[in-house]
Parts: sequence; C-alpha cells; structure tokens
Amino acid sequence: MSSLIEIRNVSLQYGSSDVVRDVSVQIEEGEFFVIIGPNGAGKTTLLKSITGLHRLTAGEILLRQRSVSKYSRKELARSLAMVPQHINAEFPFTVAETVIMGRYPHLGLLAVERKRDLEIAEQAMAFTEVLHLADRRLGQLSGGERQRVIIARAICQQSKVLLLDEPTASLDPAHQLRIMDLMERLRQQEQITIIMVSHDLNLASAYADRLLLLNEGRVAALGTPNEVLSGETLEQSYGCRLHVDEHPLLGTPRVSLLPRTDH
Ligand code: ADP
Repeated sequence: MSSLIEIRNVSLQYGSSDVVRDVSVQIEEGEFFVIIGPNGAGKTTLLKSITGLHRLTAGEILLRQRSVSKYSRKELARSLAMVPQHINAEFPFTVAETVIMGRYPHLGLLAVERKRDLEIAEQAMAFTEVLHLADRRLGQLSGGERQRVIIARAICQQSKVLLLDEPTASLDPAHQLRIMDLMERLRQQEQITIIMVSHDLNLASAYADRLLLLNEGRVAALGTPNEVLSGETLEQSYGCRLHVDEHPLLGTPRVSLLPRTDH
C-alpha cells in the first residue's frame, strides 16, 4: 500500500544555509506521527514544507502519490490543515468567525457559508469544547482556549491530515493532556492523520506511533518511541544528559533530564 505522505530526499534552504538535509520519510494514513529534535533542527520548516509553503532545494513531497506542488491552494487546504505555533491574540474576530474560516476551501465562488457549513463549524466547536465561547474575541481567551479554537478551525476544514506545530507549548499539564487526547480521539473516530512537532518527549512517547528525531536538519532517528528514545541517541542530538527508562504505568519510554553534577 502506498503512503499518504511521502517525503523523498527533501532538502530546504533559507538563503544559502541548509535547514533540512536529505530527509526521507513516509507517513501512513491514520498515523500519530511526532517530529522531535533540538531548537533550530528544522522541525517547523519540514512541517510547513508539507503544506507546499516552501520551495524545496531538492527532493519532493507527495500527498497521495501526487506532488504537493501540483495541488492548488484550495485543494491542499481540503487535504491538510495546519495549526500554527503562534496565534495572533489580536486577531479581530470572534471564536465562531474564526472557526467558520475553516470552511473557506469548501465554499463556492461567492464564498457564502450555507447552513451545512455553520453546522460543521458548530460541531467542531463542540468537539474541542469551545462552543460556549463562540461570541468571544480571540484576545479574550486563555492560551489553552485559543489553541482549542484554532484546532476547531482546522477540524472545520474537514481535511484528513492535521499538522500541528507545538500545540501544547505554554499549556499547563491538564491542558496539554486535553489537546493530546483530542488528537487521539480525532485519529480514532475520524481516522485523521496527526503530524505534530513537539518538544515534550514524554508526551511524544505516550501518544506517537512513530517519531522522527531531527538534528541539524538530518534524520537522526526514525521509528517507534521504543526505537528512537534511547538515552544515547537523545544525548547525541540534544547535547545534554538524559536518562531513559520504562514508565512504570504506561510501559512507554520515559525521559528524564539529569542536572549537571559539576556545579
Ligand atoms: P525548529 O522548528 O526545529 O526549531 P526551524 O525549522 O524553525 O527549527 O528553523 C530551522 C533553522 O532555520 C534555524 O536555524 C532557523 O534560525 C532558520 N530559520 C527559520 N525560519 C527562517 C526564516 N524565515 N529565515 C531564515 N532562517 C530561518
């Protein structure tokens, strides 16, 4: 069976500096796929490149065996929905207005929402539990609520792939779990493929089917959490002391930071 997304020998540059170097990975339909790696490793750049936003220096990215560069923006938006890392809190729209924007790729020339579009937006808000905030402006929400609104907009887009850039950054543990559980539910109930950049190695370990560890733009490791999360592999990429053992309740690899002992 062919993969949903195939990243083939992809390299990317900003100016003359290589940011992603010869990365190849295939992502299957319905997978929970998490990209990890140190700051500046190229994770966000690689994620964005799946949406066709970056010109590749080499290689190609295929979505259902067709190069993403051959899709129109609207076609791509019907297949892929991006949840960006930074959301402008000054965005001058209400929650309901923001979420309904997810319907844009499905609207006709006049871009008029029909009853069905409004129903889908309402369902998406209910799914992420922001329906009660429908009339509030984004600036009047907490970070966790805002994140759930942006996820609702992506769900409203009804694309089968969700791309998320550090969706749990700056959230407290309860809200981190809520977002991760939401992703797992989308995957199970709607067969949505989740591709996420995360700095949280333990959340990645608990939820991901497979991990891609990027370091200096290259694939440092690719495989199941058990295969990727070894102390030695992580230390080489992150350049700090890390201890990995088995989580006593989950059975998944557990990563702990080891403070330096020489101070
Ligand atoms: P990560 O998500 O792993 O932290 P990024 O993909 O954001 O890494 O960035 C990879 C490298 O590309 C970094 O060195 C970063 O400084 C550089 N970079 C990111 N965005 C730009 C940009 N718009 N222009 C120039 N360099 C950039």
